[in-house]
Amino acid sequence: MHDILTDDTSRWRAVENRIIHILERYGYREIRFPVVEKTELFKRSIGEATDIVSKEMYSFTDQGDDSLTLRPEGTAGCVRAVLQNSLLQQNALRLWYMGPMFRREQPQKGRTRQFHQVGVEVFGLEGPDIDAEIILLSARIWRDLGVPGLVLQLNTLGTSVARQNYRRVLVDYFTANQDQLDADSRNRLQNNPLRILDSKNPAMQELIGNAPVMTDHLDPESSAHFSALQALLTGADIKFVVNPRLVRGLDYYNKTVFEWSTDRLGAQGTICAGGRYDGLVEHFGGKPTPAIGFALGLERLVELVGVVATHADGPDVYFIVAGEHAVAAGISLAERIRDQLPVRVVLHCGGGSFKSQFKKADKSGARLALILGEAEVKQEMIAIKPLRQDAPQVEVGWDGLIPALQLALGL
Ligand code: ATP
Ligand code: MG
Repeated sequence: MHDILTDDTSRWRAVENRIIHILERYGYREIRFPVVEKTELFKRSIGEATDIVSKEMYSFTDQGDDSLTLRPEGTAGCVRAVLQNSLLQQNALRLWYMGPMFRREQPQKGRTRQFHQVGVEVFGLEGPDIDAEIILLSARIWRDLGVPGLVLQLNTLGTSVARQNYRRVLVDYFTANQDQLDADSRNRLQNNPLRILDSKNPAMQELIGNAPVMTDHLDPESSAHFSALQALLTGADIKFVVNPRLVRGLDYYNKTVFEWSTDRLGAQGTICAGGRYDGLVEHFGGKPTPAIGFALGLERLVELVGVVATHADGPDVYFIVAGEHAVAAGISLAERIRDQLPVRVVLHCGGGSFKSQFKKADKSGARLALILGEAEVKQEMIAIKPLRQDAPQVEVGWDGLIPALQLALGL
């Protein structure tokens, strides 16, 4: 679990703000739900046999003997919140959320135990139009942030019936070739065989390459849905690769699944992943409601974006105040500046000589210093000293401070 320090938070915030701006432009609205839920919620949605539930959750028993878990992902909590608050009265509910998720994974580059996601969930729409919309929305995020070279992979998992049939075929195939499975995959054979397709083990790639593909076991409805989605994406100029072996680590997906990935981040190259989960709402006792969503990983995205255009990190003005009366006058002058100008003003606190305050002003990266000593207070004057360019210090009366700052800062 990492700290995100002051030099990075402005980068993070710039990325977050641009994503939020895009989400709002597509008519998605923010929902916030707790970081902690009943453990049962995740077991019942993500699936007992998944890596997340079987070994990665931070679960604990609270003082009332309830088993609670730090959320490992957002969809389950979002569905719970939507049901509990009867939000499904609206027939096209477009939501987004952002925040920390927790999984006790093996930490490595691009994989942390607390990480942050932006999630999108849409309820009440069967698609494939909405499937295309959320993919277009994600593509706009990459474009807006100037992230090139992300590859979109698409697959369909079919209806749950088709998926069950395919699962049987897959179990037969891997059972017949059990000697070639690694320990992990042998474990998955009975409880989560689709995940074997997801294995990154080089020694198993040939076996996986020859495995039966979902596409050959699809039901006609999912097949039509998938072709229509591809046509919509092609029409919208979105490039994609159909990968019949793309599966997701969570149990609740059906029909459309997709991932955006890059080869520029090493092994953890998936930036964003999502898909349909048409059965989940009903599974939790709601009326049958189709749904689709995705989650994007902010750590990986921020890393990929590198430097985004943020404003310089230093303040515009460092306000030097030396002497008791200067402090009192400085506090109110700084407030006056903040009232009237859209600038960042750091007021020196903690006293000290002019010399030591000047050092701090310099270090702060401020564009200019304001200087107020006891002598200036007596005359109701203040000095303005440019710190980043070779220009003379000027003195102005307090009444002339705002226009003088406007001039000096080019406002
Ligand atoms: P991965 O295959 O990378 O483990 P996943 O299938 O577990 O991903 P999802 O649960 O679909 O991922 O989460 C969506 C996105 O959240 C991922 O594509 C990734 O960008 C990010 N993500 C997931 N787990 C982590 C983690 N432990 N650390 C950082 N980012 C993560
Ligand atoms: Mg994972």
